[in-house]
Amino acid sequence: MSRSRVRGWWKWLGAMVLLVAGAGVLAGSDASKESDTYELVIANGRVMDPESGLDAVRNVGIRDGKIAAISSRVLEGRQTIEARGLVAAPGFIDLHQHGQDPRNYQFKARDGVTTSLELEVGTDDVDRWYAEREGKTLINFGVSIGHIPVRMRVMHDPGTFLPSGDAAHRAATPEELAQIQEQVGKGLRRGALAVGMGINYTAAASHAEIVDVFRLAAEANAPVHVHLRHAGMQEPTTGLVGIEEVIAAAAATGAPLHVVHITSMGLGDTPRLIAMVEGARKQGLDVTTECYPYTAGSTSLESAIFDPGWQARQGITYKDIQWVKTGERLTAETFEKYRKEGGSVVVFSIPEDAVRTAVANPIVMIASDGMPITGAKVHPRGQGTFSRVLGHYVREEKALDLMTALRKMTLMPAQRLEKRAPMFKDEGRIRVGADADITVFDPAHVIDKATYDEPLQYSEGIQFVLVNGVPVVKDGQLVEGVFPGRAARAPLSQ
Ligand SMILES: [Zn+2]
Repeated sequence: MSRSRVRGWWKWLGAMVLLVAGAGVLAGSDASKESDTYELVIANGRVMDPESGLDAVRNVGIRDGKIAAISSRVLEGRQTIEARGLVAAPGFIDLHQHGQDPRNYQFKARDGVTTSLELEVGTDDVDRWYAEREGKTLINFGVSIGHIPVRMRVMHDPGTFLPSGDAAHRAATPEELAQIQEQVGKGLRRGALAVGMGINYTAAASHAEIVDVFRLAAEANAPVHVHLRHAGMQEPTTGLVGIEEVIAAAAATGAPLHVVHITSMGLGDTPRLIAMVEGARKQGLDVTTECYPYTAGSTSLESAIFDPGWQARQGITYKDIQWVKTGERLTAETFEKYRKEGGSVVVFSIPEDAVRTAVANPIVMIASDGMPITGAKVHPRGQGTFSRVLGHYVREEKALDLMTALRKMTLMPAQRLEKRAPMFKDEGRIRVGADADITVFDPAHVIDKATYDEPLQYSEGIQFVLVNGVPVVKDGQLVEGVFPGRAARAPLSQ
């Protein structure tokens, strides 16, 4: 072969390569080709993404559990969800959900939640907690290492969910303090998403014990999700004093801080507590907060919150407390009886103004604080929080706009956790490459149906929910027998 002929052959080969590559590019841009058939397409929905600000009718193509395309052109799917007239938003991330059983997950999914996290109380055994749920859940799940359950185990507290004995009422010995540190540190190494604290429930824990736990969290870049030491407006045990303690601990140690349910902490002083969070953020601290959209709280009657003096501290009396097992309001006699027995109560203590202020504030995330279902009159918040914000506060009350509300349920919780657990960078967004956790709802009809009298009611108007690309709610109904939920967990360091 002559040199020129060799050169000619190479030219020809080069041209063919270009042609083939060009055809590939064409195929890649042509959605009608077989190679671009998606596993599932959400067609014609109003796609709302709080990160990019996108708010327009689009088609979303899903493949391998991820968002693979967002396009104004028609996309071919082996399955298509027709979403005309509906909003397609990132799936809601609930930072605060105590009930973590299959029945809870069904209620969460019907309320638009795709990731359910127990970050306030948490667990004392991170490995066991995840292993119990792996491969068995409708939605994604995650947990914190909990100072409360760790303290209960170390101090042999007889309580079940919250302390009622030594873990609530006694200072820890130096040996116990060392064990608490060891167990919290171990939980962080095993991938806990955060450190949970409920200082009001471990009332005898010293300020030094609390700061030392913050220090561990700071080393692991883990946010501390904390129920404050004090709540309400009676000096010297106000919610303001409570928030001062943890902002100081965060500032001094560098731990990120997340104050849970700011409304039940602040009560009438809620705007002042939110101003503390805003002020700390302006000074450069990593401080965030959350609320649920209800005027009642819920907790255990045997907990330290109801130690003597609770009426003055919380500004309530017996009749403001409802026993979850029966729905009856308490008296002095039944208070004593049920406190010995132990169990959940619903507590009507939060002013509506405080709720509205927090729900409408753009820096306050939405989180349910949903309770385990231990009785017929459990608090409705675990079942209805997200639809209540969208239906009642956005549509009916116009307390905030829809995009702001979605941001508080999706992007902000993801950002809260993504420094600790990078997997959250692909959560809370409608973006190519993000996890296909998507909630499709009817903005004209979405509403909570769970009430204090009838709390075990599904929300309405949540039409389709995808978890890792798998529908768990279809046409407003639960899909049976699917378990696409995954562990939301920080990287293991040991
Ligand atoms: Zn709490």
